[in-house]
Amino acid sequence: MERKVRVRFAPSPTGPLHIGGVRTALYNYLFARHHGGDFILRIEDTDSQRFVPGAEQYIIDSLKWCGIEVDEGIEQGGPHAPYRQSERKEIYLKYALQLVESGNAYYAFDTPEELNALREKAEKSGNTFAYNAKIREQLNTSLRLSPEEVKARIERGDQWVIRFKMPENEEVHMHDLIRGDVTINTSTLDDKVLYKSADSLPTYHLANIVDDHLMEISHVIRGEEWLPSLPLHYLLYRAFGWSDTQPEFAHLPLLLKPTGQGKLSKRDGDKMGFPVFPLEWKSPETGEITHGYREDGYFPEAFINMLALLGWNPGTEQEIFSMDELIANFSLEKVGKSGARFSPDKAKWFNAQYMHHRNDEELGALFLPIIHAHGGKACIFLATKIASFIKTRATFVSDFWGLSYFIFNAPTEYEQKTVDKYWKGDNPGYVAQVRELLAGIGDFTKENTEKTVLGWITDNGLPMGQVMNAFRVAVIGVGKGPDMFDICEVIGKEETLRRIDRAMEVLNKQS
Ligand code: GLU
Repeated sequence: MERKVRVRFAPSPTGPLHIGGVRTALYNYLFARHHGGDFILRIEDTDSQRFVPGAEQYIIDSLKWCGIEVDEGIEQGGPHAPYRQSERKEIYLKYALQLVESGNAYYAFDTPEELNALREKAEKSGNTFAYNAKIREQLNTSLRLSPEEVKARIERGDQWVIRFKMPENEEVHMHDLIRGDVTINTSTLDDKVLYKSADSLPTYHLANIVDDHLMEISHVIRGEEWLPSLPLHYLLYRAFGWSDTQPEFAHLPLLLKPTGQGKLSKRDGDKMGFPVFPLEWKSPETGEITHGYREDGYFPEAFINMLALLGWNPGTEQEIFSMDELIANFSLEKVGKSGARFSPDKAKWFNAQYMHHRNDEELGALFLPIIHAHGGKACIFLATKIASFIKTRATFVSDFWGLSYFIFNAPTEYEQKTVDKYWKGDNPGYVAQVRELLAGIGDFTKENTEKTVLGWITDNGLPMGQVMNAFRVAVIGVGKGPDMFDICEVIGKEETLRRIDRAMEVLNKQS
């Protein structure tokens, strides 16, 4: 029987979720939905030293903003609750002891000072210290000490850890759904700590394997940085006797800096002025605020679309995908092996595409408070109307004011270079005639003004660009902007005529 697809996103709440993490969550989600499976959010908070307050909520809020729906998790609950590892504490010791029992793990009593001394000694002779088969028998471990001694040490409260006993010189054959077959010799690996008595907590490796097993995870889709841990994870599954049901693995390629050299970091974002986090983040320690896509005015759909294509390619030229289309088209086979270069310009491009097709009412509602903040007078209908004809010129809603301020404020001055270029020759006379034509229109709609003015220009064989640009500078004071007839309609007949009259007065005096 085909196994039910169950995937998990398993972040550690050590700070704000990087966009690389959001992409991991997204790919898991797309994979789950594509296969009619479950998407689980598990919080891996067993490293108490790296715990950052607020980070867990940030993860939850980020997924919500992105439209990534969690089926089982700390908010939703589910058959394998709790989904926060710190609340599953008592589960793990049993499994660690099971490995000691079966000879796959052992107790180690080394103090931090002893380990430091070993590290220093190795460094002095130009080596790096590794806790492995070469050394484990000489140290204070249950491999060397008698069972009575081990028992006595535990009972008197000595601190201990449980380490995995890495097999010696064995080839581990692994399969990754993106990278194919991978083989590693265990001699290159050390004996990782699985459990610590100091805080009665498992380490990432143990908790991760135990929970993936108990939560019946079918596929582990995670960042490439976890690939070096894969042999240990394979061996842990084997040691527990769970190899038959172990999940399949897929390690996603790195997100690279815009230059293509090296991993995308927060510092790149700071330097080049683009966010590397989905939402704004305020550091609980320093109060420092870090930019987020949401606050910078990105639409979640555009952000998700951009992220989906950073590492996955649909195999066609199509670039714009709704979440449903991503779900329908997503497959791990089309995720590349090599790093995906992040492009801030492309991120903006995606937002502009979504902007151009955005619903006018929604944009109007976002624009209205901006108009008011600038002291402009408008109602929702006007804001919506303006949004409808400026949105194709904008990337963000924050661009709207710059594209339409002249609707709210009649020009007090006129852009000199445009005046020099167009307010000359016959053009002021043509504008005077346009004024008369407009004055004669009763129903001052865009349709009517456009038909009348353009018809008159064409019928008389006048230079279209010259007349229209002179008309434009008279009404809005600058040489660029949205369609003049859209502008005339929203400012109304009276205001249009008033502006032309004033421009005639000021500009004709100038020239
Ligand atoms: N807690 C790990 C992280 O923060 C999860 C890695 C995994 O998915 O196995 O990335």
